[in-house]
Amino acid sequence: MKKKIAILGSTGSIGTQALDVIREHSDDYEAYVLTANNSVERLISQAREFQPEVVVIANEAHYASVRDALADLPIKVFAGANALCEVVQMDAIDVVLTAMVGFSGLRPTIAAIESKKTIALANKETLVVAGELITQLANRHHAPILPVDSEHSAIFQSLAGENLERITRIILTASGGPFRLLTEEEMENVTAAQALKHPNWEMGAKITIDSATMMNKGFEMIEAKWLFGVEPSQIDVHVHPESIVHSAVEFCDGSVKAQLGVPDMRLPIQYAFSYPDRKTLSGERLDLFKVGTLHFERPDFKRFDCLQIAYDAAERGGNMPCIVNAANEIVNLAFRQGRIAFPDIARLIRRAMDEATFIAQPSLESYLNTDAEVRRLVSSYL
Ligand code: MN
Repeated sequence: MKKKIAILGSTGSIGTQALDVIREHSDDYEAYVLTANNSVERLISQAREFQPEVVVIANEAHYASVRDALADLPIKVFAGANALCEVVQMDAIDVVLTAMVGFSGLRPTIAAIESKKTIALANKETLVVAGELITQLANRHHAPILPVDSEHSAIFQSLAGENLERITRIILTASGGPFRLLTEEEMENVTAAQALKHPNWEMGAKITIDSATMMNKGFEMIEAKWLFGVEPSQIDVHVHPESIVHSAVEFCDGSVKAQLGVPDMRLPIQYAFSYPDRKTLSGERLDLFKVGTLHFERPDFKRFDCLQIAYDAAERGGNMPCIVNAANEIVNLAFRQGRIAFPDIARLIRRAMDEATFIAQPSLESYLNTDAEVRRLVSSYL
């Protein structure tokens, strides 16, 4: 029996690499659902190649073009955000890969958990915004959440056979991004084009900017807190420019286990599909002689205030991480559009943290309200 996989966000960077994995292991895996937001042409060509059962185009304006282009194939085509929540509940689906960007991942992920699907989680914003709600729901419905983020996959792989209660510390590695070596003055004038040149990883535009501000690492700290039940004070970000050690776990006896490899997102994606087993994967092997030396540095919380923002938000709790996420989505896009300067990203998120309505015990509805409120608020700053 092939594992049937629903890929939410199949046209993005994670989605296309997940399809590479499925292509390489077509005897084991099947792309059962493919979804995209706006990338009509790519979605159509993926659907023609992989012949999924269902395709969803989230932006309803594109429905007719997708339906017409696939009219000669027995593929069901749906449109709209609600369709995403419905298709993930289909009985045949084994694994739901959440590879869409941002807050929009929350509702479909909840629907998949409630249908007891295995979640291959690539949409970290879901855990940043609503980590407590999501982990409680996953426990109640016995829906496993398997991390696809490379750092969390490294931690997860290091935890195989271990007891979570024996963790004393997590070493969360970060490349440092393209601005690691710039001074504060130099960072005032960097452009989106410079930020989009990531030294080690090939990723989508939103996460590449988050990587340049280190908000991505801050979000990953919050993601690790929920996935592995540790406190933010137990998570130490280590800047590691080579991106070879993908993260590590320290246990109560002082032993440290890490997972290493060349930077290639197909590995964590495939591990989430094959877990608890492993499968072969084509590609470059780690050559430590070629790498030669590994470096580790303390992060600079002053130049990368977004990292500090994430720790502050996690400590405050409630809907504060949701406020930060919504503000970040707006300013990240504004920076890419050249509407604000790089240092404005952290500055405007801090302002939103001061001005948005704080809720200590948020429900799902409060998260939806907070997200909408903060998007309005931060848009008014621009
Ligand atoms: Mn990552």
